[in-house]
Amino acid sequence: DHEVADLRRTHGDITVRGKRCPHPVTSFLQCGLPNKIMKIMEKRDFEKPFPIQMQAIPALMCGRDVIGVAQTGSGKTLAYLLPLIRHILDQPKLGNGDGPVGFVVAPTRELALQIQREANTFCKAVHLISVCAYGGGPMGEQLSALKKGAELLVGTPGRLIDVLTTSGGKITNLRRVTFLVLDEADRMFDMGFEPQIGMFLQSTRPDKQVAMFSATLPAHVEALARKVLKKPLEISVGEKNT
Ligand code: ADP
Ligand code: MG
Repeated sequence: DHEVADLRRTHGDITVRGKRCPHPVTSFLQCGLPNKIMKIMEKRDFEKPFPIQMQAIPALMCGRDVIGVAQTGSGKTLAYLLPLIRHILDQPKLGNGDGPVGFVVAPTRELALQIQREANTFCKAVHLISVCAYGGGPMGEQLSALKKGAELLVGTPGRLIDVLTTSGGKITNLRRVTFLVLDEADRMFDMGFEPQIGMFLQSTRPDKQVAMFSATLPAHVEALARKVLKKPLEISVGEKNT
């Protein structure tokens, strides 16, 4: 429909591949976010969604798998964090011994920490616990935080495997994960993390939602994504640098 096409074109050149994509939003008020989250958005002066957020947020909110491609600094983190937090809040509360519902994998410790910091500003407001398991960080602290229970786990591939396999996998597990994010997917593949990613995809629930975000989408990464994601919507902003 023309109106939707115009909206996508005039707001930063949003391109969508895939069937039955929901309409883009032009305001965070259209996203169905909890009031406490909206208050933080206001406090931080996030007035309106960036182009990747305009289309990826409604797509993820209605349960679709998403491949999001937009350049560095374009707001990809919030594009998945807001739907992820909404999703966690919609699930049964954390019980004793339960693992996380939300799971975010990023290639480097700096990125993982940055994502968890961003997530935590929102998580705290809605009483969700997030933990970051990053390489080079204090393993003991990460393990005890996970043991206490967390709804959101963010981390780097190697350390995530470590915390998941320590003590025979009794500290935490991915059995409740229904929202998996692979951030900077292009870099993760460049860095050789494909086996770890394969393991995360296998040990999470088959009915999970998967979001993959990246600054570039090389053909081999796209091919892999299309193999593991279910009827994904590929949302790109600006020129596709493949
Ligand atoms: P990317 O992951 O695409 O490289 P980030 O998610 O790190 O980009 O976002 C870049 C910066 O833009 C961050 O400082 C973030 O807080 C800010 N930002 C994100 N969304 C918005 C928004 N809608 N309005 C204003 N600033 C935003
Ligand atoms: Mg990013």
